[in-house]
Amino acid sequence: MSPRTDDVSRYLRQTQELFGDELYLNISSQPSTSGMDGGFGSDITAFEQEICQCQKCPLGQSRNKFVFGVGDPNASLLLVGEAPGAEEDKLGEPFIGRAGKLLDKILAAIGRNRQKDVYICNVMKCRPPNNRDPLRSEVDQCEPYLLHQIHLIKPKLIVALGRVAGQTLLNVDKSLKSLRNTFHDYHGTPLMVTYHPAALLRNQDLKRPTWEDFKTIKDYLDSSK
Ligand code: SF4
Repeated sequence: MSPRTDDVSRYLRQTQELFGDELYLNISSQPSTSGMDGGFGSDITAFEQEICQCQKCPLGQSRNKFVFGVGDPNASLLLVGEAPGAEEDKLGEPFIGRAGKLLDKILAAIGRNRQKDVYICNVMKCRPPNNRDPLRSEVDQCEPYLLHQIHLIKPKLIVALGRVAGQTLLNVDKSLKSLRNTFHDYHGTPLMVTYHPAALLRNQDLKRPTWEDFKTIKDYLDSSK
């Protein structure tokens, strides 16, 4: 299969996950000539506008702010956390507060920042109450949005931050330790799992292995330029 055909197949698979069979079949029989936008805006800002009032799962009722994501829409590195926390829910931006500041330092150490070749978001766009883990039924409703973000951004590498993000995206029940140091596959894009910056604030011993992971991330991205 040629890379182009592979891209189209991947897009159609993701669109089917987003919209279900009906639209999938429509797209198959009537291909769009405007970049296969699948009914959503073909840029990330338009996509955010279209889904920011989402009520597909019960978290839409309990959230304060919808947290779509921030960063470079053409980033080669996509960082994905589990779900917004209390601060993020208040301000509508992912990875803020002390953990966010630490993440900014880690990014600076590999020559990047939130505006430069990095995009940051969560699997879930709304906060689960009391910071509980998202339910599988909620993930199933929200994950197609992440898939469409990936389709628009086209990162070279996805990094899941924390055990829950890694387990949720890979749909496995394994320890973070066993998920690290491996390039997994997430719908055709390589995915690594490393510690969540909040975990580093609680346990200084995790800083070294996290730094090792980010050196691997930098090497991978540098070599794929
Ligand atoms: S968590 Fe996702 S699916 Fe649920 S309401 Fe928010 S945006 Fe919609």
